[in-house]
Amino acid sequence: MSVVERLDEIYAIAQHRAAYSPEEDAAHELAAGWMEEAGLTVSRDEAGNLFGTRGDARVWAGSHLDSVPTAGRFDGALGVVAAIEAAARLPDRALGVVAFRAEETGPMGSQFVEQRPDAYVEVHIEQGPVLERMGEPLGIVTAIAGQAKIPVTFGGRADHAGTTPMDARDDALVKAARFVLHVEEAARAGGVATVGMVEVHPGAANVVPDRVEVLVDARAPTRPELDALVARIGHEPRTIHEPAAMSGAPLDALRAALPDAPELVSGAGHDAMILAALGVPSAMLFVRSLNGGISHHPDELTSEEDIALAVDALTAALDRLTR
Ligand SMILES: [Zn+2]
Repeated sequence: MSVVERLDEIYAIAQHRAAYSPEEDAAHELAAGWMEEAGLTVSRDEAGNLFGTRGDARVWAGSHLDSVPTAGRFDGALGVVAAIEAAARLPDRALGVVAFRAEETGPMGSQFVEQRPDAYVEVHIEQGPVLERMGEPLGIVTAIAGQAKIPVTFGGRADHAGTTPMDARDDALVKAARFVLHVEEAARAGGVATVGMVEVHPGAANVVPDRVEVLVDARAPTRPELDALVARIGHEPRTIHEPAAMSGAPLDALRAALPDAPELVSGAGHDAMILAALGVPSAMLFVRSLNGGISHHPDELTSEEDIALAVDALTAALDRLTR
């Protein structure tokens, strides 16, 4: 069965395969069968992560099989199915294929791995427009962006929306609106920043808002760049997730397989970020998203040709890593 047919089979289970749901279980069952066909020995750990291993598996490839409610067919599933295919093409190599639990919602199964490999490689749809704009089918990820969550509260004074003259108001939402524009400007100098959550009090059409809370999501490829972005935004972060550098033998192996491929930073978190944070040298290969990079949407698309190139590159990288 081809990689694309397997992706269709997983999608046919359900578009939404929530963490630890019967649908995610069914996807793991399907993958377990394909792992056995590829000559891998199936096992599971306490977190429910699925492994297909051959020999002393010190090199792993994989991704996740859970999905968001509005999912397309490639996010996560592509990395698992591509790894099974690559393992089948390297029948005499000691290696492991892994399907991690609960990547989309957490608590991410990859956080709880009991054994740590010497190398981890993950193929993943880009979920953005960068490779499509470059006209490149594949890209090597050099880092996964760090992320700061910055809560900011604006105060004002509640007043009657009809009787209070414009020059006598203290409107918290007007202050917040100026701040949103400031955040956009701050990110133009590097990184990305988004205000995606706004709470307006009291939230009535006929009352001038007296309190507004916003939450900024700011991301950048390195810690100094993230710190600089946070400084430009000008408020204290509540949480910071460190950027994760891709590194070591798996990154070298992807570069050797694809010497001309562009290199890019992932703005989204992935299982490879967790493995890297656990100290496992990790690398990621992005496959071009079509349709403008739309993702977490049924129109999410990667071509059969690009998938074939990704499987070839992953196979070459695993060949090098397990030699
Ligand atoms: Zn994913």
